[in-house]
Amino acid sequence: MNIERALENWLIKNGINNIEVALNIDNFFDTDKNIINFSLKPLLQTDCYFRQFIHEYGCTKENIPSLVLHFLHEVGHVMTIHKFSEDELFHFRISRIFFGFEEHSKFELAFNYWESPEEFAANIWTINFINNNFQEVQYLINIVNSCNIYTGVI
Ligand SMILES: [Zn+2]
Repeated sequence: MNIERALENWLIKNGINNIEVALNIDNFFDTDKNIINFSLKPLLQTDCYFRQFIHEYGCTKENIPSLVLHFLHEVGHVMTIHKFSEDELFHFRISRIFFGFEEHSKFELAFNYWESPEEFAANIWTINFINNNFQEVQYLINIVNSCNIYTGVI
């Protein structure tokens, strides 16, 4: 089975229906088409910050492959996007453009980004899911491993 179908099946098994998974060069949830776009090339420096971030916000598990963390983050968007109005989402996306112009370290930039409302909601969902459903996270790790692709464990 290819990884896209395997991940879609995992979503359905977890009660998340009508979401497609498509391989792409970047990770993002396309809210118009209900597609999780998923990249097989994690950015390792950002991954390291992301692990620190979720640990700081209460994630109790370690050594989860990067691809699994990226995927769960996008699932977090699927599960939390309805908490925001169209106007709020538009505002978040416009203000995000200016993040890079401020004088911050890359570490601070990454944390500011992940603490912005839309991202934070997805991240808290991800942390809770990992802490409370580790068996399902393990299934995801198995899917990623069985598809024989780079998993980027640090
Ligand atoms: Zn995100």
